[in-house]
Amino acid sequence: METPDSTSDHTPAADYDIERIRADFPILGRLVHGFPLVYLDSAASSQKPYSVIQAVDAYYSEIHANVHRGAHELSIRATEAYEGAREVVADHIGAAPAEVIFVRGTTEAINLVAWTWGAAHVAEGDEILLTKMEHHSNMVPWQILAGRAGAVVKYVDVRPDGSLVMEDYDRLLSDRTCLVAVTHVSNTLGVVNPVAEIARKAREAGAVCLVDGAQAAPHMQVDVQAIGCDFYAFSGHKMLAPTGIGALWGRRELLEHMPPWQGGGEMISEVRLDGFTAAPLPHKLEAGTPNIAGAVGFAEAIRYLQRIGLERIHAWERDLTAYALDSLGAVEGLEIYGPKEDRVGVISFRYADIHAHDLATILDQKGVAIRAGHHCNQPLMNHLGVDATARASLYLYNTRSEIDALVDALGLAAKLFGVA
Ligand code: PMP
Repeated sequence: METPDSTSDHTPAADYDIERIRADFPILGRLVHGFPLVYLDSAASSQKPYSVIQAVDAYYSEIHANVHRGAHELSIRATEAYEGAREVVADHIGAAPAEVIFVRGTTEAINLVAWTWGAAHVAEGDEILLTKMEHHSNMVPWQILAGRAGAVVKYVDVRPDGSLVMEDYDRLLSDRTCLVAVTHVSNTLGVVNPVAEIARKAREAGAVCLVDGAQAAPHMQVDVQAIGCDFYAFSGHKMLAPTGIGALWGRRELLEHMPPWQGGGEMISEVRLDGFTAAPLPHKLEAGTPNIAGAVGFAEAIRYLQRIGLERIHAWERDLTAYALDSLGAVEGLEIYGPKEDRVGVISFRYADIHAHDLATILDQKGVAIRAGHHCNQPLMNHLGVDATARASLYLYNTRSEIDALVDALGLAAKLFGVA
């Protein structure tokens, strides 16, 4: 198959060659309801470039077998591919491979920590500190844990502009706090939280800090050492990789002392009738046959992002976000949530009295894909006093003309709903 790939020549182009980048994503060439697809839903899941699709294809076409302990050629090659992928992911975030656990995604990563570290370390009366902007994936596992352990969950407040009330954090953090879990970037408001400061203060208070990086890792260079947290969770599918693969990074001392989560094959070094000995890291926390092809695709997605350069992607998205905020801000009756600065291109809005679901359905008729609903942020929605928002989310392949198409399609919605 002929595969256009804007990054394959490895030459760092002076300009951001958006047309070549778009050509790397086959799905962007399709029509939806007769209109060119305008994909503004990457915060839910990103599209995939040829190189990732092909890496998965090549893996299955040429080397697939089960990993670890295999004596035959394919198993050895598959193991190399899987463990090689772990090295790519680890290197990308400034970590050691043994500290990177492959999981299904951010949700599974957080549940893993809650059910292993949490079950071993959280006791009655302990406090778990979250924020009101957490995704349900970084809220419900802690609520379940707190319910089982008799711990208390507390929430840092969010200002109307979407920023965290850091004075609230300082006030709520105490020697009773055993864990602080915070999102790096809000999936509704786009706000970037000061996670390094949050992690530092958590450490000073003797608490462990988990950062939910689901919406950050796709857009910025993450360095877990610089952040100074103890756990960092992220999903591959939001950063060009296949679905069903993600990573949990944990500080080695913590991972070493964490009991296994799921029991089964791969996670043991010895099983006897009277018990078992767990395998060393990272396999202790990866029971069963892993998502090998997903890991291979994840590594290729990271290589693709690295070839373009996260700095350049960030700069492109910053410009595009400013353009989108200006364009949407100029639509009368449209209200945008979240800050103007220190944010990524995840833009929540409401338009006149049109329900977000109606808006998304009308926009879809024009080929414009946005998301509507509570975005797994029901407590935040309640805090903002709304039941749902429309959300347009941008990524490296979006353009200004797609923002124009969004604004045009809003015009259609206005006409249908008689918005003056
Ligand atoms: N946290 C945040 C901030 C998210 O945006 C998401 C995905 N919407 C998740 C966690 C959960 O990610 P996944 O569904 O990939 O497990």
